[in-house]
Amino acid sequence: MSRRAWLWWLGLTVPAAAGYPLLPGGSLVAGLCFEGVGAVACLVMAVAIVKVRPPSRAMWWLLLAGNALSVAGDTIYDYLLNVEHVDAYPSMADVVYLASYPLTLAGLAILIRERTRGRDRIGLLDAAILATALALPVWVFVIRPLAAADHAGLGDQLVSLAYPVLDVLLIATTARLVMSSGARRLSPAYVLMVVAQATRLPADVLFSAADLGGIDFSWLDGGWILTYLLTTAAILHPSALRPDEPGPRRDDGTLSTPRLTVLAGASLLAPAVLAIQGLRNPAAIDWRAVAVGSAMLFLLVVARMKLLLDRVHRQARQLASLAHLDGLTGVPNRRSWDEALARELTRARRSGVPLVVGLLDLDFFKAFNDTYGHQAGDLLLKEAAAAWRGQLREPDVLARYGGEEFGVVISGRPAEEALAVVSRLRTRTPRGQTFSAGLAQWDGQETADELVRRADEALYRAKAAGRDRVLLSKDVTLAG
Ligand code: GH3
Ligand code: MG
Ligand code: MG
Repeated sequence: MSRRAWLWWLGLTVPAAAGYPLLPGGSLVAGLCFEGVGAVACLVMAVAIVKVRPPSRAMWWLLLAGNALSVAGDTIYDYLLNVEHVDAYPSMADVVYLASYPLTLAGLAILIRERTRGRDRIGLLDAAILATALALPVWVFVIRPLAAADHAGLGDQLVSLAYPVLDVLLIATTARLVMSSGARRLSPAYVLMVVAQATRLPADVLFSAADLGGIDFSWLDGGWILTYLLTTAAILHPSALRPDEPGPRRDDGTLSTPRLTVLAGASLLAPAVLAIQGLRNPAAIDWRAVAVGSAMLFLLVVARMKLLLDRVHRQARQLASLAHLDGLTGVPNRRSWDEALARELTRARRSGVPLVVGLLDLDFFKAFNDTYGHQAGDLLLKEAAAAWRGQLREPDVLARYGGEEFGVVISGRPAEEALAVVSRLRTRTPRGQTFSAGLAQWDGQETADELVRRADEALYRAKAAGRDRVLLSKDVTLAG
């Protein structure tokens, strides 16, 4: 099938359908044209499903069956009216038409399942907000007045209520589809299907309300024709062949500007309903429905905000931990080192326990990089940090001071013990790599900078003395 088949289809049929309102409204010719377009759309769709064999054929067959039954319902209605001259309500036409809803709903349900990855709380909440907001005017302006209106009998009343109730289900399902966690890219076939459903919804609702009078619904046929044409265009589009690959999960609380706009607009429907009712007849305001609808919307929006705030807090925690860790080795970075050293000094000042800092610098590491490559050097830094960390006690701090230099803070142990600890680290350094280290024990007075400077001087001496050794700062006053 041509890659442009869908464009040919819409290019030929939409202009033809646009001429439909020129036909005398309600006439047999108009009826036959309407049903003819619907039947052709269904036929082309059936051929396309068989020929292109898209994934999830069940969904396509269900959507097709839904469209076909609604065309059949209209055909039966026109037949009864124009051939049998029976204008009965409800009739066989309504039974067939109503039967189309579950099929369409099932098809859409499959589409939603395919596009949603895992638990999509955000999608569900957003869909609930949209559906609640849209259901409120349908309830206030269509369902309640229909329930209160005079009916010829119970069958009449049930069928006239069944239409808008099923419409609300269709609204909720379409809302769920629009708000589903979505694919990596919006496939044109998906967009066509969403627009196809969105086009029929106003037509469906206004048709249900036609019983209440005052609605010229001859132009509503346009909504259904577009639904048939667009659903068929969707299967003709090449993207119908690719299953929608679910995109990144929305459960992280993302709220894009279009989404926020849709949700804000939807939430404003409740006050809009109140205002319209107030302007028309304040005495007839359906305050119960508006109160319940507004309360539900409010709670749903608060739940949505909670998910959004959870995400912000989660991200803040992640950022805080990232800001304190070195990206390569995973040990604390220079910033954490400074904080940890200040903290340990305060503790040592208060408790009087000994505190030793050490600076470790890998020997001839530039040569290692030159011989084995920078990536091997990176790996060695990671492995060395992990091996050393495993040798230290919990309160001791190992941090990446910068480059291939590391810092340790060993508290609660005098200098000789700290020397033994760091000497043990030398034997644990991977791949026979050596390091030199300088240690300094806090003298009880000096600042963190002065203490580190003494450790650095000891490191310098260790390097100068031939490397591969640990030296203590000369100025240290060993405990005991
Ligand atoms: P020595 O310390 O024994 O005097 O010799 P050296 O070759 O180790 O010299 P120096 O400490 O001055 O050089 C540090 C080298 O460490 C330079 C750079 O190639 C390497 N280096 C620093 N940071 C990284 C890093 O993140 N990854 C890798 N692969 N290499 C690093
Ligand atoms: Mg260095
Ligand atoms: Mg070095």
